[in-house]
Formats: sequence, C-alpha cells, structure tokens
Amino acid sequence: MAAHQCKACLVYCMDFRLHESLANFFAEQQLVGPGADIIRVGGAIKSLARPKESRDREFLLEMLSVSYDLHRVRQFYLINHEDCGGYGLEDVPDSEEELAIHRDDLKAAAALVKSRFPDVEVLTYFMWMNGKAELVE
Ligand SMILES: [Zn+2]
Repeated sequence: MAAHQCKACLVYCMDFRLHESLANFFAEQQLVGPGADIIRVGGAIKSLARPKESRDREFLLEMLSVSYDLHRVRQFYLINHEDCGGYGLEDVPDSEEELAIHRDDLKAAAALVKSRFPDVEVLTYFMWMNGKAELVE
C-alpha cells in the first residue's frame, strides 16, 4: 500500500476565533495542494514548552510522531496566537509582554521538537487576532 504523504504538520490552538486566519495561513504557506496535518489543542505550544502535566507534552509528541511516520511530513509549524486562553490574561498584561512569553515558549517547543525530529524543519509563528501571522525566530 502506498503511503499517504503530505508536506507539513501544523500545531495550533483550538480557539474558534482564528479558524479563518488559519485557513488563510494555510493558503499563504502554499499548503493547500501538498496538504498538511493539523493538530489543534488548546494552548498546544505551552503544553510542549512547559506542560501542566508531562502527559500533555507526551500526547502532543505522539501526534507529531504519527504525522511524521504516517505522512512523512518535512516541516512542523508551531503556531501561538494573541489572547490565548491557554495562557491566562492575568499573566500577560499587554501585547509586548505577551509576545515575549509566546516567543520563549515557541523557542522552547521548537528546540524540543527538533531534538525529537532532527531531519524536519521547524517553523514558529505568532498569529495576531487581526489574522496577521508573524514569523518568530
Ligand atoms: Zn489559544
């Protein structure tokens, strides 16, 4: 049986407010044709970077493994977003501080994913509520 392959796997929050932004991002990244798996879990990147329970991180890594093994993905996109309920507003009083926290978590999550999947490109993005996606390096 031929393997089903796609180009990438996106890890993103479940938040309903950004469905349209994610669809636009999908098109911008030219993922419509080659396809991409999408893993949507509330506060997913935070769970990779600093999980409440280690099983939360293991669950996400297992889903990434499925995408990698079954669909032979070559890129993982790790995407956080503004006003994420998974972060709690009391911890992030303004956009600048909020972005810094997300940047740190995206970097930590990317390092973890790269260590598990060294031959896959890892891309990190921050999505604003206006739909603009910013590459985080
Ligand atoms: Zn969220």
